[in-house]
Amino acid sequence: FPLYTFHPQRTFITTYLLLFKTVIMKLKRIEAIFTPPASHMVGDGFKVHQFIPSVKGLDMKRMDPFLMLDYNAKQHVEASSKPKGVGVHPHRGFETVTLAYKGRIAHHDSAGNAGVIGEGDVQWMTAASGVLHKEYYEEEWARKGGDFQMVQLWVNLPRKYKEERPRYQALASNDFERVYLSGNNSYIEIIAGEYAGKKGKAMTFSPIHLMNARLTQGDKAEFSFPKDYTTFLLVIEGNIYINESVDVKADHLLLFAYEGETFSITASKNSVVLIVSGEPLKESIAAYGPFVMNTQKELVQAFEDFNKGKYGILND
Ligand code: MN
Repeated sequence: FPLYTFHPQRTFITTYLLLFKTVIMKLKRIEAIFTPPASHMVGDGFKVHQFIPSVKGLDMKRMDPFLMLDYNAKQHVEASSKPKGVGVHPHRGFETVTLAYKGRIAHHDSAGNAGVIGEGDVQWMTAASGVLHKEYYEEEWARKGGDFQMVQLWVNLPRKYKEERPRYQALASNDFERVYLSGNNSYIEIIAGEYAGKKGKAMTFSPIHLMNARLTQGDKAEFSFPKDYTTFLLVIEGNIYINESVDVKADHLLLFAYEGETFSITASKNSVVLIVSGEPLKESIAAYGPFVMNTQKELVQAFEDFNKGKYGILND
């Protein structure tokens, strides 16, 4: 029989797939990979590398709708009878999303919410019209000490939701929707948005995809997000290759350009990767410390309301 038979049909399909991959679903271009900047203390408990907005190339405008990303890289915390952390402080106009990878964080706010963010859990706090809160190591955990690792991401609120009542979503790691990769232990843990048709539990005010890829060595996961979304990832643990070619080490942040839709992550060690993608709000930003509004006038008002005690009462 002939060594090669010309199949018009197969050629058509191959051509179509090639077109689909290269034109319709183009690979995202990598804009930059960032090493963690020098750390600073938040309160006496959180030793954070602030990627957003401190690092050049990761300012609030470029990272819209993400305002801030503090990363407490894995750190050993000595046993202590007095839990460390950060005392009562306000927030207004956005959401704080706290992801605990190691250790346990206790939380109290002036809206009457309190809870513990355990390993793998996520707390999604909508400060909106204004809230006071405090964040500390959970007491029992602090008495034993151990490894501590967390991320806090600030997500901006669209103008029309900045005066909503504060709200709190405690998202337990067991409740996350998981998409297992075929025939192994690797999975995508969806916190918000969607992956492979499954949806995360977190309610958001603008389109946001937030997920952890928990991959065993050698496994590969594919992702696709709109090209005009702000998309980045942070390697929490391990070591990965993007599109089987670009090496990204633990504690590094990779930012995609606004070009293309797809990328793959291959784990060259057992890895945990935080993947973030959100539609930019494209609204003006007036930010100072814990307040993020649209105009300078609203920012002044936010301070005045805080000084007048309008965000409620919370004791130290
Ligand atoms: Mn806070």
